[in-house]
Amino acid sequence: MSNKRKTPDHTVSKIKELRRKEMSVSELTKGIFAGDKTLLAKGITLLESSNPIHFEKANEVIQKCLSKPTKSVRIGITGVPGVGKSSFIEVFGKTLTNQGKKVAVLAVDPTSTLSKGSILGDKTRMERLSKDPHAFIRPTPSGDSLGGVARKTRESIILCEAAGFDVILVETVGVGQSETVVHSMVDFFLLLKLSGAGDELQGIKRGIMEMADAIAINKADGHNIEKAKLAEREFTRALHLYPPKENGWTPKVLRCSAMENIGILEIWELIEGFSKHTTKNGHFEQHRKIQNKNWFLQTLDEQLKHLFYQRKNYKTKIESLLTEIEANKISPYFAAKTLLMDIHQELK
Ligand code: GDP
Repeated sequence: MSNKRKTPDHTVSKIKELRRKEMSVSELTKGIFAGDKTLLAKGITLLESSNPIHFEKANEVIQKCLSKPTKSVRIGITGVPGVGKSSFIEVFGKTLTNQGKKVAVLAVDPTSTLSKGSILGDKTRMERLSKDPHAFIRPTPSGDSLGGVARKTRESIILCEAAGFDVILVETVGVGQSETVVHSMVDFFLLLKLSGAGDELQGIKRGIMEMADAIAINKADGHNIEKAKLAEREFTRALHLYPPKENGWTPKVLRCSAMENIGILEIWELIEGFSKHTTKNGHFEQHRKIQNKNWFLQTLDEQLKHLFYQRKNYKTKIESLLTEIEANKISPYFAAKTLLMDIHQELK
């Protein structure tokens, strides 16, 4: 028989009630500013909510968090499933927390809504890091569009920074546009690759190499070391074919082993070098400003579309125009023009 004393029922319900209690914006932000991980998680849950009442409140929290001066580096990490992303983040994160840094891990996984999450879905991943008091791990937000997931992750970054996290890791799998989306919200983009698969450069989506600030060949251990060296040379050669980056940074290729903790510290030193280099030449701040402007334009674009398609009369008009297009009665261009003229009249 268990000798644990049972908590009286009325106390349990009291605790539940307290947990359920809606927190005010100032209570939340106070907690977040103090680095309270429970309140940080609550804040993120708020901004992930689709309830319109929460939306207003979340915006207030974000505004307050934005006003707090912070200093962080945002790192995007991508690679195919099985390349070792979670193993890498676990050792990389631990290396940083051992140095006294606070590390937040977020994710963008567009497949998660369908498959219940291929990344950061189960609790067994990053077991050591998730128990580390200096680390905060948040699974990918759910959403019906990549744009929605991206917004929530971007806003989560702001909350994590206000909570004093110095290093923000945003993990993604190479599905759809998810890499481009993560690239648009980070300072440094790291591509994890495997060696030994033969034609190293095949199977890389166009544009991914161009986005990378560094490529790390993972699993460079055991029998794989020679193959990893070969891959390193091939990737280095391939990177030289790209035009130099505007920020003056030359992307690097490294080898690492998440399993044996080799080359991990070197990757952090490289990122520190990158931050110093781009801070000195002004590109670090400039890059974030450009990202913010794009974020605004993107939001505007999405919201306008959302507003437009929500309106019932446009929906029916679109349907009848589609029928006419199908019957070859009007051209698609003419159909679009007709509808836009209607909107124009309405807005007058
Ligand atoms: P993810 O799907 O990209 O998150 O990959 P995981 O971190 O789950 O790793 C996939 C598999 O590769 C697991 O069995 C890991 O143990 C293994 N693995 C990860 N990193 C290394 C490494 O550096 N060396 C070796 N030999 N295996 C590794």
